[in-house]
Amino acid sequence: MKVGSLNEKIESSIDEALKLKQALLESQVENQFEARNLYDNCPLCASSKISKSAVGDCSKQWLYNPKLPTIMQWMNCEECDHQFIEGPYTDEALKIIFSKQPENQVLGYELENNRYISARIIEKVLQYKSNGVWLDIGFGNGSLLFTAQEFGFEPIGVDLRKDGVIGLQSLGIQAYCDLVQNIEFKKSISVVSMMDVLEHIPYPKEVLLAMHSKMDEDGCLLISCPNSESWVWKFRTRQNQNMYLNSIEHYHNFSRTRLASLLSECGFDMKKYGVSERYRSGMEIIAQKK
Ligand SMILES: [Zn+2]
Repeated sequence: MKVGSLNEKIESSIDEALKLKQALLESQVENQFEARNLYDNCPLCASSKISKSAVGDCSKQWLYNPKLPTIMQWMNCEECDHQFIEGPYTDEALKIIFSKQPENQVLGYELENNRYISARIIEKVLQYKSNGVWLDIGFGNGSLLFTAQEFGFEPIGVDLRKDGVIGLQSLGIQAYCDLVQNIEFKKSISVVSMMDVLEHIPYPKEVLLAMHSKMDEDGCLLISCPNSESWVWKFRTRQNQNMYLNSIEHYHNFSRTRLASLLSECGFDMKKYGVSERYRSGMEIIAQKK
């Protein structure tokens, strides 16, 4: 084959491939809809002084669906220095995301290994609260509740994934599939845990205030989430490898500083800072009612 005709063949193949790629992109854009309700104000302090900051890409995430936009536009609040996504998902978009369930969220996932991790978390709480009702919001694989029960707590689970709630109920453990603000608990809550949950909630303050009203006088709050003030976070951001900027389900990037002030605004004192073993760059906070 002559070089000229080979070149022509290569060029026409490239043209074909580019056309296909363009058609695919266009069909994806057609399928996309308004997936987010944009925030007009900072979701923590309500300031209107918000501006665009980092941009992420969620297209490689396991939960991604081509009907959803790939770009994740993060915002910054000039008033309280909080970083948050441009807007939480609409109900329609949430339905798409919730149609898939990550393996580690399935009830009983890695039961034995997670029992050790859960026990280390619970041991940190014991000095503040050693019995009573333990409410886990977003209980996922259930490990923390199972282990809390071993330690003598009365477990209650809340999760937005129905399968897990039905599964927990079938084991004889109280469980609800609803927003925690809407649930009337029969007893006062001693410990509330939100492990890697707060960053998924559109307005975290509402939930923290609601929990405060449902807890014992010296009730204990356990929160884990990524810490944007950790050096791991800062280095990975600088290297353009911060996976959390692409986290399809996340609405907030908390710093330790902002989380502590938020807790204080909601009537809690941060008592203990620790590093979370559950996820990269994570922090684990124990707070108590003031
Ligand atoms: Zn703010």
